[in-house]
Amino acid sequence: MMPTLERLRFPEENSLGRRYPEAAHPYRRSFQRDRDRLVHSHAFRRLEDKTQAFIRPDSDHSRNRLTHTFEVAQIARTVASALGLDEILVEALSLGHDIGHPPFGHAGEEELNRQMSRFGGRFDHNIHALRIVEIFERRYARFPGLNLTFEVREGLVKHSRDFAPGEFPELDEFLPGQRPPIEAQLIDPVDEIAYISADLDDAYSARFLSIEEVINGVPEYAEIWHATCAEFPSAREDVQFAEALRRLAELLVSGLIDGTLAAAAESAVQDVQDVRRFPRRLARFEARAESLNPAQRGFLFSRVYRSEYFQRSCRRHAAAMGELFQFFLENPERMRSLQPDSPHDEPPHLAICDYIAGMTDGFFYRTYEGLLGPLETNDPPMPIPPAYPV
Ligand code: MG
Repeated sequence: MMPTLERLRFPEENSLGRRYPEAAHPYRRSFQRDRDRLVHSHAFRRLEDKTQAFIRPDSDHSRNRLTHTFEVAQIARTVASALGLDEILVEALSLGHDIGHPPFGHAGEEELNRQMSRFGGRFDHNIHALRIVEIFERRYARFPGLNLTFEVREGLVKHSRDFAPGEFPELDEFLPGQRPPIEAQLIDPVDEIAYISADLDDAYSARFLSIEEVINGVPEYAEIWHATCAEFPSAREDVQFAEALRRLAELLVSGLIDGTLAAAAESAVQDVQDVRRFPRRLARFEARAESLNPAQRGFLFSRVYRSEYFQRSCRRHAAAMGELFQFFLENPERMRSLQPDSPHDEPPHLAICDYIAGMTDGFFYRTYEGLLGPLETNDPPMPIPPAYPV
């Protein structure tokens, strides 16, 4: 039988609880309620019209941030279950991991950060996620936000990094200097598996990348591709591509399971407190999978994210976001009329940042065009329009 990490599973009875105490539910665990509250939130539904990688893709099959979120949740649950960890906690953390993302993916996040830095501030989608679940969601009469458990909120703010005491004063209650439970540590590497596989898939499906380019750019993929073709020589090329990509993703998932088991064994941690105090995160890839990710990421950066097509699209949307930000700064009454609920004690630039960050791509377009006129759409079409439907 496969060794598991049940001893490191977060014991829900040790949860530090909710900000506003609530009676236990008759048949749902606390982390189930957290998951359910996230699924029923406005911010979660908005993920459907937020960019994952390609802004306004031509294909109905490209990921958006909602379908990406489901892929993360599915992979993370598989890993958690194989390791004997709390699948429901992992599911809640996965479903919440991107709810703080602004429109237009990383281009949008960088632009909001750039705007905030003019005022000595910054924008970080993980911290914005915390503001959503603690302040902006209004569905419960007895408290603001979703009143999630401490562990889910901690997982959201420590999604991609840990922080030292005093580094982010607003996060001081979330155990700075400590690692989060392994359930939370898993989300970042799973996010990486999900987005790397998905972006390769979407770029290939949109004819943005050819199979030859992927083979030449990612040596491990080439090896798997040749084995797949030898096994299924008469399959269609796109099916061979998908089959090889699936195997690559499985290699990464297995690599994460094995790497985490090995790291836990090596560290000799015995319980969640040990995990918290251990100087490094224990959720990690074993050596082969670890070496794969930089190669794939490097390939995606050079061939997709830094491509002229992609960069032009990002620049145009970031510029439009900057224009809308400036418009609201100069016309605070328009902002107030559109967003009458925003807290009155907030400095204007923060209220504007929160408002824009909460927009979907479509809502951004409608708002921009309603206030500033047509948004120039001079994007070239994707290299070859994808066949549809298939
Ligand atoms: Mg993500």
